[in-house]
Formats: sequence, structure tokens, C-alpha cells
Amino acid sequence: MSNVEQDPAELRCGGVSTAAEPEAELLEPRVVPLGGPRAMMVGRTLPNRDRRMVGAWCFADFYGPADIAGQPGMQVPPHPHTGLQTVSWLLDGEVLHRDSLGNEQLVRPGELNLMTAGRGISHSEESPAGHGPVLHGAQLWVALPGAQRDVAPHFEHHGDLPVVSSPEGEVTVLMGELAGAASPARTYTPLMGAEVSISAGRALRLPLETDFEHAVLAMSDGFSVDGRPVGVGEMLYLGRGRAQVELGSGRALLLGGVPFEEQIVMWWNFVGRSHDEVAQAREDWERGRASGAPDGRFGVVHGYAEPALAAPALPNAELRARGRTRKPS
Ligand code: MN
Repeated sequence: MSNVEQDPAELRCGGVSTAAEPEAELLEPRVVPLGGPRAMMVGRTLPNRDRRMVGAWCFADFYGPADIAGQPGMQVPPHPHTGLQTVSWLLDGEVLHRDSLGNEQLVRPGELNLMTAGRGISHSEESPAGHGPVLHGAQLWVALPGAQRDVAPHFEHHGDLPVVSSPEGEVTVLMGELAGAASPARTYTPLMGAEVSISAGRALRLPLETDFEHAVLAMSDGFSVDGRPVGVGEMLYLGRGRAQVELGSGRALLLGGVPFEEQIVMWWNFVGRSHDEVAQAREDWERGRASGAPDGRFGVVHGYAEPALAAPALPNAELRARGRTRKPS
């Protein structure tokens, strides 16, 4: 998925605050267009105005359920990433990923597509020909720690994630560990991500890692966290130091991680540490896009029907690294 805002705001994240933090903070989604001229609308809860990250999770888009019968659906042309992992998760439908390493992988509900951009990769995402009538899912980004932000790019598909079942419902662990189950997906900082699907009229109490901060993204109507209603598409930030949480019936993503101490620069599809790093990534993308050079930093995505996305212009002001919250520390 690409951030295709025409004039993307500069977003600087990271940095631990020593100030007291709230036990619960509702993060409402911004509605933004995704992907090219026939954009679908998505709800973006991270980065949020006041809270930019949850652990290393730095971006969260939730979309649908959208009726895409007889329509293009998701069509995101080739675009670059650096310094992050993209996490693609569906509740309904299918999305085809292609990348500059030559990977071509359909992702379906219950499966994880995880792309580690490292020093640079490009990819496209599309509803494939003959797609189903509904598209419903989430895309999240995880910031890589500074020491590993330049790792070689790689792609993982996990079609057999651990699922913890109980009379209350199911927990599928996408990243990290929860409720005694561990995902095989590669992580670079201590974090977790899981989908919970809880039966009607039931509630599920889950143990949490007290070193983590956590948040819950509600993906169905009528969801609740510790008895507090959370609307579909909204995220409830839960702070640090919690040993458990009680989730009501419905579906949600539970995210957590050790607070991300580094300040980062997040602009367009890049996560870096400085203006110059991001500007260089932009320049490298534009140069490779013009030449179609397969040996360039971002390679070439084969098989997508339309041209690669052009990078937006950099803002006039210098991009500066920012902390994980907007509040002063
Ligand atoms: Mn993308």
C-alpha cells in the first residue's frame, strides 16, 4: 500500500517521553484516499495527530468492507519503501502483491504478507482479475530500528499462522507472541500484533506484556475494550504497564510493542532518520523510475499494468525527526 496523498504532511516520530501517559486514549481515523486516480478511501489511525506510534507500529490503515464487484478494487501502482516493514492483513477478499525482488504473492484472510523494505524495495498491490465482490482489511507499517533500517529487503508470506482457540473465540498471532503462541514472522524490535475474533455475547481476557504499550483497532461494530465502546475503525491506545485486557465480541487488531525510543522522519513511503536520508531515497526512486533501471536501489516491479508512482515534491521546509507523541517530554 502506498501513501498517495498529493501533499503528504511531514511526520516525525519516535522518542520516549518521561511524562505520565494516559491509560486510555481514543484515536479517531482520518479518511484519506489510497492509490492512484481510482482511489479507494481508507481510515488512518496511525500516525495520529497526538500519537504517532504504538511500539514500532507507525502506520495503520483500515478499509472496507467495500463492494468492489465489477470494479477495479485496490489498484496501487509500483512505489518504493525504505526503513519499514509493511504488514498486509485481510478480513475479506484478496490482494496480489508484486515486488522488485520478483515475488508475486496473493494474500487472503488469515494469511500474512510481510515485506521488509530495509534499504529499499518497490512493490505494487492490486485486486487481481476475477476478484471477489468484497475487499476488507488493514495495512500497517512497522518502523525498523536505526541499526537495521538498511537491511537487505526481503518478503515473507505466512499462510499458517498460530491460532489460539477457546470458547470465547480465536486469536491469530501475526507478529510476535500472545497467549502462548508465537508468529514465525521476522521482527526487529519487541512487538506484537494479533487479530482477535470473539463470539457474540462473549468476552476474552488476554495477558499483556507489561513492558509494551498497546492499542486496539476495532474492525467490527459494537466492539469494546475493558467495557468501553470503540467504534469500527477507531483505535483505543492503552498505554504501558498493563498486565491484561478484556475484549468484547467482534473483531479487532491488538497491537503492542516497546515504546520506540528513536526519533524518525516519516515522509511519503519512506522512514528515515534525517531530511537528507529521505531526500536521497526520493532522488534514487525518481532516477530509477525515469531510467527503468532494474539494478537501481528500488529495482523494478514487473507485471503491473500501469506506470510506477511519481514521488511528490519535498516540502519547502527541512524534514525533521520527531518523537512518538506530539506531547512535550
Ligand atoms: Mn506500499
